[in-house]
Amino acid sequence: MTDGHDPTVRREHAVIIGAGLAGSLAALFLARRGYAVDVYERRADPRTAPAGLNGRSINLGLSARGMRSLAEAGLLADVLKRSVPMRGRVVHSPDGTVAFQPYGVREHEILHSVLRDELIALVVDAAEAEPAVRFHFDMRLLRLDRDRATVEVAPTDGGEPVTVTGDLVVGADGVFSTVRQQMQYGLRADYAQEFLEWGYKELTIPVGDDGEPRVRLEALHVWPGDDALMVAHPNLDGSLTCSLFMAHEGPVSFAALDTPEAVRTFFDRHFPDAAALMPDRVEEVLGHPTGQLVTVRTAPWRHADRVVLIGDAAHAVYPFYGQGMNSAFEDCLVLDHCLGAHPGSRAAALAAYEAARRPHTDVLADLSTQNFQDLRARVHRVGYTAHAAADRL
Ligand code: FAD
Repeated sequence: MTDGHDPTVRREHAVIIGAGLAGSLAALFLARRGYAVDVYERRADPRTAPAGLNGRSINLGLSARGMRSLAEAGLLADVLKRSVPMRGRVVHSPDGTVAFQPYGVREHEILHSVLRDELIALVVDAAEAEPAVRFHFDMRLLRLDRDRATVEVAPTDGGEPVTVTGDLVVGADGVFSTVRQQMQYGLRADYAQEFLEWGYKELTIPVGDDGEPRVRLEALHVWPGDDALMVAHPNLDGSLTCSLFMAHEGPVSFAALDTPEAVRTFFDRHFPDAAALMPDRVEEVLGHPTGQLVTVRTAPWRHADRVVLIGDAAHAVYPFYGQGMNSAFEDCLVLDHCLGAHPGSRAAALAAYEAARRPHTDVLADLSTQNFQDLRARVHRVGYTAHAAADRL
């Protein structure tokens, strides 16, 4: 039996750095394209790590773009079984009115809420079922030799580094990508990183005492506001996971919410109807970490036929358009198609991939910033409708 890493069979070898959403799906596509694949991930295996060890557990809105990629990978049906459809958004206005805005009537016009940790575990399982794929968790990239497609990786517990040479290195190591930095080092590369002055915290709307959801479940819930806004995605168990967004510093900010009283007063003033839905808000706001929001635009995304960037490593966007993961999945699909369209030249395939994707993700970065403004204010004004806007929050 050959396992895809049989030394007597010469296959092209892909080394993927990062087993997040992009890296795991890319592993599956590359294996099916004939590569032997090794994936190195600095975190623990998401399938066995205790909950919360791998960072904040958020849920994500899956849209048509992401679903197309998952369908082509054969994973969509399984993912949809683990997600809650969001048929529109429920906008909670500061004056207490609540309005449902449908996304559309056709199936592809709705979003699906899925827990990020569960989604990663599902994609890792599917990729690992390919004989040619091996995952190496708790292994961090230290160095990249971009001309030789060689990486030095080391166990995170302080063990000896290992050198691995492939034919292609895929940088799927997220917004602060080491692959990107080392691939572009000394080259004429463009790089712009922008931090939003706002951050976010994850909070929960638990099921009610009767075991039923406290709000309409099959929808995205939005509490718009100029100084702070909140978005909540539904979970299969009837709870919702909320992201509270506001400034890091200033009069209305996370820094100002430093006592139980300050948290209670804040909710009563800004989100009065949410306060009643969130019995744990004080402990959660005071105890949960504050996440950063970053936009990254960069070029090039590739080096010769040796290195390529996908997902947030290539294009991180603010989450207000709900398309970061979806476009990371789309990267995997387009990269796969480009490799298929240029069987004789991987350099040409990588160039075609970047040419196809970068204009779209540049626009996405702009739209994500613009939707931040919409969610802050316009979404609850008369006449604004989410109809036919299902490819965003
Ligand atoms: P990541 O998920 O960041 O994965 C990168 C992986 O690389 C990580 O596992 C990391 O541990 C690993 N890594 C990093 N450095 C190294 C190293 N040196 N060595 C080894 N491994 C390394 N997107 C949507 O489409 N819909 C949404 O509704 C949505 N909501 C969001 C809400 C919030 C609050 C945030 C912050 C983001 C949201 N996103 C959403 C965006 C989405 O989460 C990201 O775009 C997506 O996770 C990017 O996937 P990735 O695999 O490229 O990067």
